[in-house]
Amino acid sequence: MKVRYYADAEIREMHNHAIRLLAQLHDDHDITVEIDRIDEQHDPITDFPGEVRRLSAEEVYERDLKRNRALNAVIEQTPSEAFKHYGKLDIAGNVAVVDEEGTVQWASTLPGYADGYGPGAEAQTAMDFLEDISTSPSNRICIECLHLLDGDENFCPNCGYDLP
Ligand SMILES: [Zn+2]
Repeated sequence: MKVRYYADAEIREMHNHAIRLLAQLHDDHDITVEIDRIDEQHDPITDFPGEVRRLSAEEVYERDLKRNRALNAVIEQTPSEAFKHYGKLDIAGNVAVVDEEGTVQWASTLPGYADGYGPGAEAQTAMDFLEDISTSPSNRICIECLHLLDGDENFCPNCGYDLP
């Protein structure tokens, strides 16, 4: 599994924090991390422990999000509702969980933190997700099957994996 960041988040501190959390995920938990830079707004990314690519938002949308049934099943809106606003792609700042086959199994639909979006938004935000999984990678997703969890389970209801 991989965690992919669609960069750059608009706010510089958030962008830098996302990069730090990804590096931490890699260093502490051996998770593959990568960045698709679709909207370059901040400094060059150096010293990142994963691949950094330059792509267009359209390429990312076509490859990862559009007509993605796995994603459609786990997010509240359809991918086109979530990532296209008034006909314009709005993807930068979000993060995705990618399986071994390269399919996006989950993606945040709100860049940034839940603050400002209202209650219940944590499950959809990029930064809360990154903080949750970098603290304890089994808290939000089952590392065995990438099943998304609520955070209070002792085992994964999808595969039965016991969470540490
Ligand atoms: Zn599982």
